[in-house]
Amino acid sequence: MRRQRDTKICSWAIARLMPLNPADAFKVLADYPRPDGLSVTDLMDSRIHGGLTYNDFLLLPGKIDFTAANVVTESRITRNVVLKTPFMSSPMDTVTEDSMAIAMALLGGIGVIHHNQTAENQAAMVRAVKRHENGFITDPVVLSPAHTVADVLDIKLRLGFCGIPITETGKLGAKLVGIVTSRDVQFRDSATPLADVMTRQLVTAQQGITLIEANDILRDSKKGKLPLIDGQGNLVSLLARSDLLKNQSYPLASKNPQTKQLYAAAAIGTRPNDRERLGLLVEAGLDIVVIDSSQGNSDFQIEMIKWIKSTYPKLEVIAGNVVTREQTASLIAAGADGIRVGMGSGSICITQEVMAVGRPQATAVYAVAEFASRFGVPVIADGGISNIGHIVKALALGASAVMMGGLLAGTEEAPGEYFYHEGKRVKTYRGMGSLEAMETGKAAGKPKTSTIENAATSRYFSESSTVKVAQGVSGDVQDKGSVRSFLPYLYVGVQHSLQDIGVRSISELRDGVAAGKVRFELRTASAQVEGGVNGLNSYKKRLFAAT
Ligand code: GDP
Ligand code: GDP
Ligand code: 5GP
Repeated sequence: MRRQRDTKICSWAIARLMPLNPADAFKVLADYPRPDGLSVTDLMDSRIHGGLTYNDFLLLPGKIDFTAANVVTESRITRNVVLKTPFMSSPMDTVTEDSMAIAMALLGGIGVIHHNQTAENQAAMVRAVKRHENGFITDPVVLSPAHTVADVLDIKLRLGFCGIPITETGKLGAKLVGIVTSRDVQFRDSATPLADVMTRQLVTAQQGITLIEANDILRDSKKGKLPLIDGQGNLVSLLARSDLLKNQSYPLASKNPQTKQLYAAAAIGTRPNDRERLGLLVEAGLDIVVIDSSQGNSDFQIEMIKWIKSTYPKLEVIAGNVVTREQTASLIAAGADGIRVGMGSGSICITQEVMAVGRPQATAVYAVAEFASRFGVPVIADGGISNIGHIVKALALGASAVMMGGLLAGTEEAPGEYFYHEGKRVKTYRGMGSLEAMETGKAAGKPKTSTIENAATSRYFSESSTVKVAQGVSGDVQDKGSVRSFLPYLYVGVQHSLQDIGVRSISELRDGVAAGKVRFELRTASAQVEGGVNGLNSYKKRLFAAT
């Protein structure tokens, strides 16, 4: 060992006197016993370094020979769902309701609708996501000629659209006799029967044509809607022109490839009445269920996973939360399609302080992802993501997606109103284990009408407790504008970061890390100071500008 070191020092000293031929740079490089920096296994050797957080390390740069815009951020977030961006929003009552879920899905991620509200409210939100964009609308709202303008206006108010096909009976599957659109009901008395205002000359298409053919007819007809009929003239489905526009405007949207509907995800607990809740969510079209528990390795959760997989085999189940291989094994064996990782790393979280249980998030993500990847089960890094760098680090450690609460809480699409706190425009952001969330079933302005127990409590207590111990805090976060600008910022930021690392996609990043080609470096405390802004009297931190 000592001799080896002496030889190296010696060759370095000689090289200083007699510089090597620059043309041999790669040959000389290849003579080094290992590449610069650390492999992921060396980095994550917790017996040496202890548990690491995202701030404790960096990735080393690679080579750029492609443009950032070409970097692919596609990722599999459960066994059967692939998204174009790896972004998820947390099931928290100050983060994800229907507006957030719709915006997240349109922009290529997915929002998990929280369950600190009645099952009926939650199901209505799932339905809103599923109705937002469509290919063939196979269950269009239909009225009869005897319905009135008032009925159309009511649908517009409740569901947001008013292009309504009219059939003889007012039911799908009956003879199509007309269509009513917004202009037909404008300036009309609300009692007017639809028979008097509907358009009877219709452009229709026959059932059985492909979506592409139907879209062509719709485009050429210059109409807003295209009803599809069977051989007898009965209505079978509907196509909306606005969906063509949405498809064009949101090329990254997270959609079911067959129906072209946005993916919908929602959280439930592990209590018996969560099975009833899930029934309503599935009926509303749910694609992914997240079993929301702060300590996922419990008999309650294992039973729940098994029950869901046998009752709704097509539903994707994300189980969690876990931070160790041992916890993960239980959930994978029970049938989980995805695993959510994180205990105590959330920005509003006091679990580690109060319970003395948890794990630094980078270490947790690596340990769980390394294990789950052997079974083809994707892992979601949940909590502690406060910038783009954290996202990329989580992905490099094997996560397929990141789940964000605090980072998205101040956006327009998050529930709640803005208010001013010490001169800043803010929104409330609170932990689901905060006393504020646990004490109320009233989620961000939703009425408390539920027969279902408080969901926030159930996440943190699996049995009824008379004393509630908080595991989270309640505070506020600054206004971040719309998710429609913020998510593209995260997306482009991740693309640039992967470009610096020298990988063209998330899967190339993962392969590079596994092969030891993508390298890491630990950061000392002073390295962290050096890496932040320092030495300025004052500065302004503007994160992005739309051009
Ligand atoms: P891409 O949209 O071209 O990336 O490919 P897709 O597989 O998503 O779409 C295939 C066809 O379906 C194209 O003709 C699209 O215009 C059409 N399409 C995609 N999404 C929608 C949608 O939400 N509604 C409608 N009506 N058509 C869609
Ligand atoms: P409208 O002209 O008022 O009907 O509204 P748009 O055509 O602008 O938007 C309708 C949107 O709602 C499209 O994205 C549809 O896919 C969606 N949608 C979901 N379900 C239905 C439905 O039952 N009827 C109609 N008309 N649109 C629906
Ligand atoms: P953030 O993105 O704000 O750092 O963390 C969000 C995540 O924190 C959520 O997805 C959830 O897993 C977790 N979380 C939400 N509320 C609480 C809480 O009250 N206590 C704890 N320990 N974790 C919470």
